[in-house]
Order: sequence, then C-alpha cells, then structure tokens
Amino acid sequence: MNVLQVAQLHKAFGGNRALQGLSLSVAAGHMVAVIGPNGSGKSTLFNVLTGQLAPDSGTAHYRGQAITGRSPQAIWRLGIGRTFQIPETFASLTVIENVQMAVFSHRRWYRNFWRSAPLLEQSEAMALLAKVGLSDLAHSPCGVLSYGDTKRVELAIALANSPGLLLMDEPTAGMAAHERQALMTLVQQLVKDTQLAVLFTEHSMDVVFGFADTVLVLARGQCIAEGPPQAIRTDARVREVYFGLSSPSS
Ligand code: ADP
Ligand code: MG
Repeated sequence: MNVLQVAQLHKAFGGNRALQGLSLSVAAGHMVAVIGPNGSGKSTLFNVLTGQLAPDSGTAHYRGQAITGRSPQAIWRLGIGRTFQIPETFASLTVIENVQMAVFSHRRWYRNFWRSAPLLEQSEAMALLAKVGLSDLAHSPCGVLSYGDTKRVELAIALANSPGLLLMDEPTAGMAAHERQALMTLVQQLVKDTQLAVLFTEHSMDVVFGFADTVLVLARGQCIAEGPPQAIRTDARVREVYFGLSSPSS
C-alpha cells in the first residue's frame, strides 16, 4: 500500500485553477520530486496535504486514512511531517531547546502513556540531533547557525513525531551547492534507514535528478509527466513546457 495516495485534487482561487485533477502516490522508502514552473500548483498541493488548505474536490489518503478536510494538527499527529520553505526555528533558543519543544508538543498527545519528563525530551532531542549531524551544536543558539545548519534543525524538528511521510517544499532554497548536497544526502540516508516516504518540491535540478526516485512534472495544476529522473530529463514535452529548452537543463 502506498504511504500517500492522492486522487483527482482540484483547487481554484477564484477563477484561477491551481490544481486541476491532480493524482499521485508515494511509496515507503521513496523520494518523489514535484517540479514545474512558478505558479504550477506545487505549494498549493503541499498546503492541501498539510491541511492548510481544503481542496474543492478530490482525496488524499495517508496509510489508507483520509487526510483531506482534517486540521494541520490532526494530519501532523497521523504521522506526516513537514519542513518549511522559510526556517521557523527560534533564533534565541538553543538548537536542543528548539528540538525539545517539538518533542514535547508531540508527547503532549500521549500524556496518559508517557511521563512528560524534560530529561526524556532532552535525550530524545539529542538522538534527533545526532541523526541530522548536529550533536556538536546542541547548545548553540539557533541564531548563530549557518543557513545549512538551520535547515538541519528544521529537519530534526520535522522528525520529532517519527513521521512516515515527510513533505518538503523547496528544502534547499537559498543554499549553496555543497549544502544542498549535504542536506539531501542526509534525507536520503533517513529514507534508506527508516523507509520514510518523502515528497518534495525543488528548483535545483542537481537535487531533483540526483536524489528523486520519481519525478512528477506539474503544469497548470496537472501532472504532465511522471517517471524516473532519466526518463523525465529526456521527455520532449517536459523540456518544452518546463525547461523551455531544446536540451536538458543541468
Ligand atoms: P508554485 O508553488 O508551483 O509556484 P502555487 O501553488 O504557489 O504554485 O500557485 C499556483 C497558483 O495559485 C498561482 O497562480 C498562484 O497565484 C495561485 N495561488 C496560490 N495560493 C493562492 C492564494 N492563497 N490565494 C490566491 N491565489 C493563490
Ligand atoms: Mg511554491
């Protein structure tokens, strides 16, 4: 069974049809990239999947459970994590405090089962920081981190509820090439280790073609092509609609 199954999503803003019958699926242990020109509906798709926006019609199921129409909190609790395009860490708190807050807000839902002990949260937060390679910076204020390290904190926060699906809208926006590669290598390792499913949007073609198992190309809210990176790179329609080029973009 697919971790995420999206069928026939429609969403219009007035007369502007941002999603027009979009269907897709993501399997466990797979990374699916959604690419497309600006305004093709990528963020609208993510906002529907995180519960920020209700679709006009269509469905999305996470592990067989309907998520359309649920609140962002309810969707997050089901096990869908997300990272934000703009890092939303608190600059004045330390790295570990930021992650502890995320662990705490997850644990709140399990108060009857778990003692809400700060020490427990601290060790769990340290384990998450180790996962993203930030143990050494645990006690630094987030405000002094490099952009790439801030993105790692964001990832640790997204992993606090042990998600089965991670949604990342432009995870490497604003990053230098080596930072992009490092962050995505880390995500890829998590995918391999934990069978996490990942759906992400991305502008950098080195990331899309280097890390996605499947690439899905959107144009005007519809999927115009879907397949492995190599097939997408050479698809004539994709090259015309998306790259606007006669040869593949690098
Ligand atoms: P992308 O992320 O691919 O650049 P978006 O999903 O942000 O595309 O936008 C798709 C279309 O929907 C665009 O035409 C955009 O202007 C419109 N749109 C997105 N969000 C809103 C909104 N909250 N209100 C009105 N129009 C919106
Ligand atoms: Mg967008």
